[in-house]
Amino acid sequence: MIDCPGCGVTLPKQQILLGYSYNASAKCYEQYSELTAYTLSHTGDDFIHQHVVDVYAAQHSGNGMKIFTTVFALIGLYYAIERGYNGRQVQRVHTLLARLKHP
Ligand SMILES: [Zn+2]
Repeated sequence: MIDCPGCGVTLPKQQILLGYSYNASAKCYEQYSELTAYTLSHTGDDFIHQHVVDVYAAQHSGNGMKIFTTVFALIGLYYAIERGYNGRQVQRVHTLLARLKHP
């Protein structure tokens, strides 16, 4: 068993080298991948997938994850929780932020 360094969940240890930059155990990331496959199958304007992506990124920041990934996740969660945006609206915020020029 191994504790995920990001969220702390204890899951069976896997000897798999994954090509991702989340601060997560392999089994935690595998379960996240299963969840995202499920949420992507949902249709409709709510687009719950965006919330899952943002929560997971925020929980598993660090250890090589790009700082923009964490920032976008926290901004997305702010709009979802504090402003009541659905996933589609949060996705639109992400798109607009990505278009901004960085100094
Ligand atoms: Zn985790």
